Amino acid sequence: MTRTNRAASPAAGRRKVLISGASVAGPVLAFWLHRYGYEVTVVEKAGAPRNGGYPIDIRGTALEVVRRMGILPRLKDAHIELRRLTFLQGGGDEVASLHPHAITGGVEGRDLEVRRGDLTAALYSTVRDDVEFVFDDSISTMDQHEYGVDITFHGGEARSFDVVLGADGTHSRTREMVFGPEERFRHYLGYCFAVFTMRNTLGLSHETVMWNSPGRAAALYAVGEDDEVHAFLNVALPDPPDRAFGDIEAQRTLLTTAFRDVGWEVPTMLAALRESDDLYFDAVSQIRMPRWSSGRVALAGDAAYAPSFLTGQGTSLALVGAYMLAGSLKGRYHNEGFAAYEHDTRNFVDLNQGLVGTGGATLFPVTAEALEQRNTRLRNLTAMPAREGRPAHSALTLPEFSLAT
Ligand SMILES: Cc1cc2nc3c(=O)[nH]c(=O)nc-3n(C[C@H](O)[C@H](O)[C@H](O)COP(=O)(O)OP(=O)(O)OC[C@H]3O[C@@H](n4cnc5c(N)ncnc54)[C@H](O)[C@@H]3O)c2cc1C
Repeated sequence: MTRTNRAASPAAGRRKVLISGASVAGPVLAFWLHRYGYEVTVVEKAGAPRNGGYPIDIRGTALEVVRRMGILPRLKDAHIELRRLTFLQGGGDEVASLHPHAITGGVEGRDLEVRRGDLTAALYSTVRDDVEFVFDDSISTMDQHEYGVDITFHGGEARSFDVVLGADGTHSRTREMVFGPEERFRHYLGYCFAVFTMRNTLGLSHETVMWNSPGRAAALYAVGEDDEVHAFLNVALPDPPDRAFGDIEAQRTLLTTAFRDVGWEVPTMLAALRESDDLYFDAVSQIRMPRWSSGRVALAGDAAYAPSFLTGQGTSLALVGAYMLAGSLKGRYHNEGFAAYEHDTRNFVDLNQGLVGTGGATLFPVTAEALEQRNTRLRNLTAMPAREGRPAHSALTLPEFSLAT
């Protein structure tokens, strides 16, 4: 095993950084750290940057991150423009039909909604020729010491870095290795959800249709005029079904049982679920950590502060957090940089994680009474698009970290 033989001084030549994860936070870290003079390696366990057609949002402060990376025009071209969000109940009776921004707090003409794959491809394109990407591999062991971090990869290689950054998502292995088991940081929000693709049997276009009963939701997202839609099932469960994680048949059984007596399009969705080869099932939870760094290792994005889809802010937090972490490391010792990152970014994260309180209560009530209250709220919502987003979306003014070292 080789070790770096110099202290990680900001002025001691090119510092080596290993980033785990090449989805949203990973490529943003790579882009900026390369610009700040770091020698960057990104390791990704998948065979390519994470794809996926489901829509994700880029709002508020996060728009400035993608603008500074030069990909705002490309993302504007990829904007999905969902036009309608329709709520149903019972056998398919309409409760309300609204512009999606009335629910999400998005701002017409400014905020973006793109397929996740379009964002990850755009981010990857900004940095793919400048830094080393290692796909189909991941960190096996990590040994921090005075001079650096010694890594062995599952592929068998052993290398040393000055700093390691975990951008490996909600179930971060980097976090587990350095901070301990996920259960310590996971705040379960009372639901489990599944997404999978299925045929667009209703001929939906640029819209979402969501059916609810107390504790259950089923939705179809049509991001364009495609033959396929994204199916979504959400069910309230008092405890996370830990035994279902990693067991696809157990997930199918859990969902089929939870939705067995339901009307509307749900039987068709359950049939598609049985055939699906892209089922993604998870608990709805947030990652909350008292610190995002330990020694020479720090976390960004969902690994450090996943806010859950109930906030719609996961992608924006990953973009902003990665920008802030990279900038905070510019010209600083790692411990100073990590401290600055936490100091300058924590409030923004807290405010956005806090959006879950109203979001969850609004969209996925678990009692008949709460559902009726939600429906009344929806019927009273104005159809006018908002001119200003939620304050949390723009609660951080992005610093300029000048490029001169
Ligand atoms: C179904 C679904 C719907 C969502 N909807 C929205 C939405 O509407 N709006 C929104 O803003 N956000 C949404 N999100 C959340 C959004 O996708 C995430 O918040 C965002 O992608 C976080 O980016 P990240 O880079 O931190 O982590 P991730 O995107 O999770 O990326 C982590 C990367 O690390 C890789 N990885 C994992 N483990 C390892 C390992 N051991 N070694 C190497 N690589 C590893 C993964 O393969 C992946 O590429 C949704 C998420 C899901 C799953």
